[in-house]
Amino acid sequence: MRAEKKGRHISGAEGIFTLDRIPEVLEDYSGKALSHTNGTPSRMSFVVEPLPRRPTLVPSLPVFTLETANTPDAREVAGEILSGIGVSTRAIEAAFKVFAKGGMRGAAILDPLTGNRLEPDKKRGVRASMLGITGAAEKKLISQIEARGLQGTRLFEALILASKVAAAPGILAELCTSDNGNYMTGYLSTPLHGYLRLPNLKKKTDRGGRVFFVSRAERIESLIEYLEETPVLVGKISPVGGIISPHETDLRDRGKPGGKKGVRKKVRAGRSSS
Ligand code: AMP
Repeated sequence: MRAEKKGRHISGAEGIFTLDRIPEVLEDYSGKALSHTNGTPSRMSFVVEPLPRRPTLVPSLPVFTLETANTPDAREVAGEILSGIGVSTRAIEAAFKVFAKGGMRGAAILDPLTGNRLEPDKKRGVRASMLGITGAAEKKLISQIEARGLQGTRLFEALILASKVAAAPGILAELCTSDNGNYMTGYLSTPLHGYLRLPNLKKKTDRGGRVFFVSRAERIESLIEYLEETPVLVGKISPVGGIISPHETDLRDRGKPGGKKGVRKKVRAGRSSS
């Protein structure tokens, strides 16, 4: 689904569904398009097409929430995790500029050192499409989200997208803030840290956006082909966890108390409410 107002992006949605669900999904997507905080669209498009090939199955990223008091705090935590995987301050600042400006349909692809935009169409960005979840995985994910009291958040759809993106060749991390005016929780996801919910990541004046940081060696054309055209289904659900502190974010340290590879071990010790 794509909704625009006088050429400006309002909202979009995509998924992989069995034929019997198409009427229900179209109703859901038109409701979404018509009730977005960005306004009433002047044009809505719906495309339903068969999959070009059988989907690849990927696991969902494990989910955690970091307690962040305000936007500078959330951005500092995100920045520390990103710099731990080789993303420069300049590239992180470039991501925040994308959020401030907003108005894109897709995500910006950023060079992790220079912060330069690598996608061919900078106005549109790259739209991750051809993504969905199997019926069994959907039931399991919904029940885990409910058990954590996170229903009504944007987690379900964003996690499917982030799980496909994290499985892409050369992806270092994804950082996202919603383009919904009232939703200030963003996320940082990486193959090494999972999906980290970050309350307050979005600034009040931001329009919202998404960025993918990619390894410098990666061929952008094959990455875009994967993101836009390769069908991927989440087929296995990793745990939806609770609140963790920033020094517990590295999945390689799971189960090792006081793991070494997270960030702010000393500064933030004792802050965790998990
Ligand atoms: P949303 O999470 O839907 O509020 O979207 C936030 C921002 O993420 C949008 O303004 C777009 O720039 C970007 N975005 C939304 N959906 C996708 C997608 N499927 N692939 C890439 N970027 C997206």
